[in-house]
Amino acid sequence: MDENCIFCKIINNEIPSTTIYEDDDIKAFFDISQVTPGHTLVVPKKHVQDIFAYDEDLAERVFKKVPMIARAIKASNPKIIGMNICQNNGKIAYQSVMHSHIHLVPRYSNDDDFSMHWGDNTDLASNDELQARADKIKQNLEG
Ligand code: 5GP
Ligand code: ZN
Repeated sequence: MDENCIFCKIINNEIPSTTIYEDDDIKAFFDISQVTPGHTLVVPKKHVQDIFAYDEDLAERVFKKVPMIARAIKASNPKIIGMNICQNNGKIAYQSVMHSHIHLVPRYSNDDDFSMHWGDNTDLASNDELQARADKIKQNLEG
């Protein structure tokens, strides 16, 4: 528990939330902004800042619940035809609350007020550069 953390306060019911699921490890509640109707945050009860702070055990306990919650959201409304699941890590990646969370954003149409831009930089690196980039990552894998 971090005393200054808004999500820790929500987990402790010091701040109200519209909660759809809760167990020993996670709480799933509506994002206040409701980017699209049903926009939900899945939040570990343990205060961890971002994806880089998860160990395997915590990751298993948190992420394994995401499909079940996603299915429940989708089943709640026949107008939901897809879902974006996003997890922002660091200010540069649009993280504004420094208690890790997973966004589940139900999708309704092309103009439902959610969008992502994916640049195409296919041709920017040679095969050798790609291999060198991959090798550096491989050297840093744990376990
Ligand atoms: P981030 O930008 O860090 O990925 O997402 C943080 C999310 O937390 C935002 O989408 C924001 O709307 C949501 N949020 C911030 N404060 C509150 C709050 O007090 N209650 C709820 N339910 N959501 C919040
Ligand atoms: Zn917290």
